[in-house]
Amino acid sequence: MNCKIGVISGDGIGPEIVAEARKVLDCIAEKYGHELKYEEIQMGGCSIDAVGVPLTDEAISKAKASDAVLMGSIGGNTATSPWYRLEPHLRPEAGLLKLRKSLNLFANLRPAYLYEELKEACPLREDIIGDGFDMMILRELTGGLYFGERKTEEIDGVLTAVDTLTYNEQEVRRIAKRGFEIAMKRRKKVTSVDKANVLDSSRLWRKVVEEVAKEYPGVSYEHMLVDNCAMQLVKDPKQFDVILTENMFGDILSDEASMVTGSIGMLSSASLNDTKFGLYEPSGGSAPDIAGKGIANPIATILSAAMMLRYSFDLDREADAIEAAVRQVLKDKYRTIDIMPQEENKKSSVTLVGTKEMGDLIVERIKNYEK
Ligand code: NAD
Repeated sequence: MNCKIGVISGDGIGPEIVAEARKVLDCIAEKYGHELKYEEIQMGGCSIDAVGVPLTDEAISKAKASDAVLMGSIGGNTATSPWYRLEPHLRPEAGLLKLRKSLNLFANLRPAYLYEELKEACPLREDIIGDGFDMMILRELTGGLYFGERKTEEIDGVLTAVDTLTYNEQEVRRIAKRGFEIAMKRRKKVTSVDKANVLDSSRLWRKVVEEVAKEYPGVSYEHMLVDNCAMQLVKDPKQFDVILTENMFGDILSDEASMVTGSIGMLSSASLNDTKFGLYEPSGGSAPDIAGKGIANPIATILSAAMMLRYSFDLDREADAIEAAVRQVLKDKYRTIDIMPQEENKKSSVTLVGTKEMGDLIVERIKNYEK
């Protein structure tokens, strides 16, 4: 298969973790006979430094001309980086919001899966973890508060800020359909999360989800208020299969879900539109605190590359090979710093490795993977 992949290395640890994902993809291409072509796309702080804006029209065109885009992460230290003294629409994150909008990426998938080998990194009690959990958070990405009208003005001498949370029924319907379709391929349960006791937008959300649910009689569904969902994620995460929710709730809940798995460095994500195109990126940010030290965990980006093979290119066997190699590396007790056991007496039972070594270890296991 010939695939054209746009690559946004981005800022902070982005270039380090993307390099490892590319190494893994190259190994897959060689082993299974595919041709992967990469096109570098600049976005985020590096684009601000180079051309003054976080995303150019040329960058958008390059992304649109790709079959899929693999991204590291963008942004810097929000307290100290000069990028955050710029107007909001010129900051790194504005580039990502614009790209998502331009590519109509309305569905964000974030798996939260607890690896047997990393159970110890999970901050929850053993009786809560049980046999582990495996959920998919599906977040609406192009509507809601992050895209509504906003302003800050002085009213009677008092500074007042307004953000607007807007959804129309079509936006809710298309994400709800995706949620039920994903559930059909999993354990067939959707938990739709809203704040319908307070917000009109949530009451519309609930109404449309109920209509969509009728088209999927094989999938069970429930509504849950977002505050309750935040509690249930730490009280009983096993109950969830697909969590379907709007933009801001999804932003917060998916970070919470990622923390209960133990490390943000392990979690992949995909943002999809109505076609096969997708933007694939790790769930974490640019981690400026560890950038350039060669210690970032590349697994989330490598697993994002696996999602790209599965969802954009239908290369399931190749995606399986990557996922199996990641599991094997963990079984073989290799760990980056973020997934090291916390207890002193357990540290000697595993081997601490850096970003590049982790990439190499995964490549080795893909080469030896038989299927
Ligand atoms: P962050 O996810 O970058 O970091 C939070 C913590 O997790 C840090 O201690 C970091 O060292 C650690 N961490 C993150 N990824 C890791 C990895 N692969 N390996 C090991 N440790 C890892 O979140 P933050 O500090 O809140 O944000 C930093 C910057 O990233 C900000 O500018 C923020 O806006 C941006 N950000 C970008 C994206 C994106 O590119 N999609 C997403 C979230 C945050």
